[in-house]
Amino acid sequence: METIREKIAYLRGIIDGDPSIKDDRVRFLFERILLVLDDITDDLENVVMAQEELEDYVGEIDFDLANLEDDFYQDSEDKEFDKCFPEEPMIEMECPSCQEVVCFDEGFLYDDDVQITCPNCSTVIFDTREVDDLDFEDDEN
Ligand SMILES: [Zn+2]
Repeated sequence: METIREKIAYLRGIIDGDPSIKDDRVRFLFERILLVLDDITDDLENVVMAQEELEDYVGEIDFDLANLEDDFYQDSEDKEFDKCFPEEPMIEMECPSCQEVVCFDEGFLYDDDVQITCPNCSTVIFDTREVDDLDFEDDEN
């Protein structure tokens, strides 16, 4: 395919070789226009080059990110994450007795009368009533 540069060179050849263009003023204007076209082509080529570099760079970032995601989710599967529902905001707490990692819905933190117990040893890990007692001690006494 003919490049823009080749089209401009072709046009310049026609104008230079055309004996019917005798007026110096017209020839001067044609030449100025062709120079502007050269400038535009230079700028455009620079933009295209910068764009290609950017695409390569983004491609590398995308590749690295995919690797990181693979590593991250592979690690997660090996651990306790299967017990959770990752699409919900989850709280993760370690049981003080048996160190079992327990996951529960973040929403439970704001509910009344919720007690989270360790599925492994039944130790109470989180109790909303204890939190309320601490926060509103003055009001209740
Ligand atoms: Zn436990």
